[in-house]
Amino acid sequence: MAKEKLSIVVSAYNEEANIAALYKELQKTIKKLPLKKVEIIFVNDGSSDKTYEECLKLQKKDASVKIVNFQRNFGHEIAMTAGMDYAKGDAVVFMDADLQHPPAYIEQMVKAWQEGSEIVLTKRVDNLSTSKLYKFMAASFYKILNMLSDTHIPEKMPDFRLLDRKYVEFLKNFNEHDRLFRGLLSWAMPRDKVTVLDFVAPERFAGESKYNFAKSLQLALNSIVQFSVKPLRFSIYLGILTAMLAGLLGIYVIAEHFILNKPTPGYATIMTTIIFIGSIQLIMLGIIGEYIGKIHMEVKNRPLYLAEFIEKEEKDAQKNH
Ligand code: UDP
Ligand code: MG
Repeated sequence: MAKEKLSIVVSAYNEEANIAALYKELQKTIKKLPLKKVEIIFVNDGSSDKTYEECLKLQKKDASVKIVNFQRNFGHEIAMTAGMDYAKGDAVVFMDADLQHPPAYIEQMVKAWQEGSEIVLTKRVDNLSTSKLYKFMAASFYKILNMLSDTHIPEKMPDFRLLDRKYVEFLKNFNEHDRLFRGLLSWAMPRDKVTVLDFVAPERFAGESKYNFAKSLQLALNSIVQFSVKPLRFSIYLGILTAMLAGLLGIYVIAEHFILNKPTPGYATIMTTIIFIGSIQLIMLGIIGEYIGKIHMEVKNRPLYLAEFIEKEEKDAQKNH
């Protein structure tokens, strides 16, 4: 297959102050790439600032800039999906808009791809914008996630990657709404033909991170539920555990009555038991609810996003008419 065209997909949500700077950096790299054609697809994820206008400005000067414009915010994962749907390249590079994914690495990614890799991943050896506590929490989270998940989901693998057309087409077959690219990709990952590049993520160029604590937690819970049904099995184990505890308590109460001749007031034991069992039931219902909620959302099978694709006729294309 030809390896001459590259699409660079950039997801942007309220990144007005980053678009121009990113474009400038991208141009420096694109010039060096041994490729016939490179398109940049900005996916504006329903920004409320001037991100879209910034992209339009670039497109006026440069027809290789394409825009996928979302009518509202659909989230980062869906933005990447839409970019992938519109990309025409023989390979697609995914990256953030805030320059935390330095464009200079694209050169090495393309080199690895042209030398035979079908997937080029990046590994964040350090992230200059996160605190020690956050790093610790993230590391613990990935440990738990991978204990629970049937698919290995790698830590420190940001959404900065190159996929060969073959994998782009493959990933398009996944119709799930609630999606985690990282997980889908590791589900489909071949054993060979994968290159991993180390990089250090610099601080954001401008603006603030869109992932606050609540959003990160939501992403964390989602990724557990999406890739594993093990939490459902918990109810069985918890049930057995509580049954055993109840048995022990029963034996103790009987022994207290008949051997020690000192019965405990009834209400204390009853209340403890009721509260204990009650809370476990609530937790289990919550877990089951999570899964049912997901099923509910998925069976509706709504379209993933509502977008318009803005493209300017490219000069070489015009010549052919
Ligand atoms: N992003 C997006 N939609 C969202 C949230 C974020 O397209 O709903 C984009 C954002 O503009 C950025 C990338 O996803 O290009 C990563 O987001 P961010 O930098 O806020 O995350 P962090 O690097 O702090 O994890
Ligand atoms: Mg960022």
